[in-house]
Amino acid sequence: MVKLVLVLGDQLSDALSALQSADPATDIVVMAEVGAEASYVPHHPKKIAFAFAAMRKFAEYLRENGWRVAYTQLDDPENAGSIPGELLRRAEEFETGTVIATEPGEWRLIEALRDVPLELTLLPDDRFLCSHQEFADWAEGRKVLRMEYFYREMRRKTGLLMDGDQPVGGKWNFDHDNRKPAKPDLFRKTPPEARGDAVLDAVLDLVEARFGNNFGALRPFPYQTDRAGALRALNHFIEHALPDFGTYQDAMLEGDPYLYHAVLALYLNAGLLGPLEICKKAEEAYHDGRAPLNSVEGFIRQIIGWREYVRGIYFREGPDYPRRNALNHQRKLPGFYWGDETRMKCIAQAVGQTRDLAYAHHIQRLMVTGNFALLAGVNPAEVHEWYLAVYADAYEWVEAPNTVGMSQFADGGIVASKPYVSSGAYIDRMSDYCKNCHYRVRDKTGARACPFNLLYWHFLIRHRDRFEGNPRMAQMYRTFDRMDEGRRKQVLEEADAFLDRMSRGEVV
Ligand SMILES: Cc1cc2nc3c(=O)[nH]c(=O)nc-3n(C[C@H](O)[C@H](O)[C@H](O)COP(=O)(O)OP(=O)(O)OC[C@H]3O[C@@H](n4cnc5c(N)ncnc54)[C@H](O)[C@@H]3O)c2cc1C
Ligand code: SF4
Repeated sequence: MVKLVLVLGDQLSDALSALQSADPATDIVVMAEVGAEASYVPHHPKKIAFAFAAMRKFAEYLRENGWRVAYTQLDDPENAGSIPGELLRRAEEFETGTVIATEPGEWRLIEALRDVPLELTLLPDDRFLCSHQEFADWAEGRKVLRMEYFYREMRRKTGLLMDGDQPVGGKWNFDHDNRKPAKPDLFRKTPPEARGDAVLDAVLDLVEARFGNNFGALRPFPYQTDRAGALRALNHFIEHALPDFGTYQDAMLEGDPYLYHAVLALYLNAGLLGPLEICKKAEEAYHDGRAPLNSVEGFIRQIIGWREYVRGIYFREGPDYPRRNALNHQRKLPGFYWGDETRMKCIAQAVGQTRDLAYAHHIQRLMVTGNFALLAGVNPAEVHEWYLAVYADAYEWVEAPNTVGMSQFADGGIVASKPYVSSGAYIDRMSDYCKNCHYRVRDKTGARACPFNLLYWHFLIRHRDRFEGNPRMAQMYRTFDRMDEGRRKQVLEEADAFLDRMSRGEVV
């Protein structure tokens, strides 16, 4: 009997379990651009264009390789508007009641698929290195689930950067050598840009017509949309950026959005690249003397460590995870996250480049936009929705643990052992933003005091009961308590006044 083989927009891999277990001679691949997926959050137009163009090209690739593909474009009049709707329509068309799918990366879609009145086989997504069972076994009996220990298991499992059962270089983690600020360099290489083609052009026109009003610039469109292009981007990264990736991974510079970052997450998360192939290329560069250990280890850790770990957390914690709000933060997300004017240079830079590129690197996400939202007490569900909408690499399994857990501490400390908060001093140390800012990073109070400085204390005092006992935070409370009373009062009052102005929609 004919089976339908569902391939979702982030499942564009030959190795997909659903494709592997189906038969091109009899089965039919179902792919669909549907309104429900394109609009459940206001996705950045570049993100939608990337997904649709990559899907259309992958469908073509499958056809060239002997598959029959039933592909629905967004503007097809027959389009049922949702993945379950499309499955039902295709089931009727091909007179079958059987569907094979690989587990989607989002509870919402898993639940929707389970509700479809068809015989569904949901296969594990084995493009990841760690299965749900392996993660559960690792987590079993542990009081805290720290990424660092999980990462060591993944090093042992993959054999990456291992010398027998010991880590190459004698240490698991070389972050001590990293985290340096960077200098502007006009000659720094940037990732190879997409060459225009008919498929991409048609998708860009469609997205402009249907999603042109969403936050974010659609054109120019720089990203690759097929495997060959993604491999070009990978090779470019290994050759030009990996050697300095580790040293400058926390640096931020005005007008230099990528620095030495890979800009590969969108390809990896969509399935155009695989985690192991990326890591092996990086490891090879180390063994050939083309990249130092601190960079290669740091990079591999992000992929086999953080990326696999956050996925484990997402599936272990269950569907309510994105709605957690351990700190009971209720403030609305300020308009400047959607492009309204702000005088804070760091926010303007991170949001501006997000608008232009659907990209910001990790430290911008964590220590600028994430840090500010946490300090200001923004409702984490709104923060989550923003991150899910604006980044081309955002899918809930990876975005939610990073946002709700790591960045907003809304899971109560499952992902992060302490909240990632900092005053302006951190941003000043790692970037050149502060020197051109309306605010003065060294001012702790007064009309021009950096808002991060004011809100830092406000946050700590708001949550004193929860964090004072954390040994890694006790020192900060002692510092606050050593200030004279008048100053303590002034800081907190100015922070309140700032938050009031912000909530009234004044330009801050
Ligand atoms: C609030 C917040 C939200 C985030 N949302 C997403 C998201 O939606 N999708 C996403 O892929 N990453 C997310 N991240 C993690 C990280 O910021 C991005 O993976 C990274 O910035 C992508 O850019 P890059 O490819 O240049 O990565 P690089 O900095 O060059 O890192 C290399 C690769 O490592 C992986 N990686 C690095 N850090 C992480 C991490 N913390 N979790 C998972 N994978 C990681 C990515 O696959 C990335 O391509 C988020 C981080 C924060 C703090
Ligand atoms: S002074 Fe404060 S607000 Fe301005 S760029 Fe620096 S950290 Fe950001």
